[in-house]
Amino acid sequence: MTASLSVTQPDAVAAASAIEKRPLERYVAPAKPSLVGLSRAALAEALGTAGVPERQRRMRVQQIWHWLYVRGAQDFDAMTTLSKELRTALAERFTLARPEIAAEQISVDGTRKWLIRLPGELADRPHEVECVYIPETDRGTLCISSQVGCTLNCTFCHTGTQRLVRNLTAGEIVGQVVLARDRLEDWRTAPTGTEPEKRLVSNVVMMGMGEPLYNFEAVRDGLNVVADGEGLSISKRRITLSTSGVVPNIARAGDEIGVMLAVSLHAVTDELRNHLVPLNRKYPLRDLLDACRHYPGLSNARRITFEYVMLKGINDSLTEARALVRLVKGIPAKINLIPFNPWPGSKYECSDWEQIEKFSEIVFDAGYASPVRTPRGRDILAACGQLKSASEKISARERLALRAMAMTD
Ligand code: SAH
Ligand code: SF4
Repeated sequence: MTASLSVTQPDAVAAASAIEKRPLERYVAPAKPSLVGLSRAALAEALGTAGVPERQRRMRVQQIWHWLYVRGAQDFDAMTTLSKELRTALAERFTLARPEIAAEQISVDGTRKWLIRLPGELADRPHEVECVYIPETDRGTLCISSQVGCTLNCTFCHTGTQRLVRNLTAGEIVGQVVLARDRLEDWRTAPTGTEPEKRLVSNVVMMGMGEPLYNFEAVRDGLNVVADGEGLSISKRRITLSTSGVVPNIARAGDEIGVMLAVSLHAVTDELRNHLVPLNRKYPLRDLLDACRHYPGLSNARRITFEYVMLKGINDSLTEARALVRLVKGIPAKINLIPFNPWPGSKYECSDWEQIEKFSEIVFDAGYASPVRTPRGRDILAACGQLKSASEKISARERLALRAMAMTD
């Protein structure tokens, strides 16, 4: 073990030996389910239970799909292309409820963070995830979550320290995009074709809480709804899924989801990666890079993004920068250097800015675009790996105040 590894906490090492924590909490469906976030097939099935005859279902799904995902309808009465009877029958059985916003924070730089409360079994430990909107000049990126907490224990990630873990449903995954469009007033109010194409939420990254490839089916179904060209319409080239390296599901992700892939690499040797990303013990670098090399649809126009968190004195030497470019050689790639975001109790520090610049120069000289992800929304702790950490620290009173603010806003 090298000296630099001595910062690893003993309890993190103990946790890491398990690689994954178990068991997962159960999802508790609300008494009256929401239609928001359903796939076409699930929607057709729901219509069946409301008495819509099979031969009409396709057309009704098409109509409701438009209201849900193009117009952002928030109640059945807005769906004026449906008969009054059908609207009543639907309202008796379903809602158009979105996930509940427990708090909303807006940064001075325009970044918005929503704390989202989801139905769960444990009243004293609510199921919560966070979702962050980052506006930029040419795009607006929404960072969404795939799980409450995470079963993995990456030592630099705050989400990994959370004990409560449950998978989000496909509806809850889509619900985050719907919710963002609600809050940002980003729905179409005029008929398609009469408005400029620019949307506030133009890109989605699955880089919030959770390991998406450990919740494969829900992530697949949810992202396919988000990408549907007749609905939310965020194309698959504008959706990026980030994985810590669940090798067996990488090819499946390419085949069945087809979005852009980001891989959390963070180290160039198995020895160090075993510590930072304990899943590496199950799927070592060699297997991971092999899976990347064979990612379906990979080309120079569809590159894999390798994420590399900059940890002072741990993985940021210039020798490691050179090893990094050697490691990904031959794979159409981008390299994303992420300044480490410290959280209360974290044992790492972010690399010095000068070191990040030198590191990035080596990567750049080797022919890779190497954007350093600029920290956004620092004042509201909106960075990756910090999601929800702030909310856990605020008191119940502050939480209520934030909630009130969100409601009057
Ligand atoms: N579980 C997935 C996606 C969520 S994490 C994954 O690990 O890829 C999204 C990104 O944020 C990952 O690259 C992760 O390694 C990084 N990250 C986690 N904690 C961080 C922190 N404290 N500072 C900077 N990046 C962090
Ligand atoms: Fe989970 Fe990703 Fe955090 Fe690792 S970095 S603990 S995989 S959310």
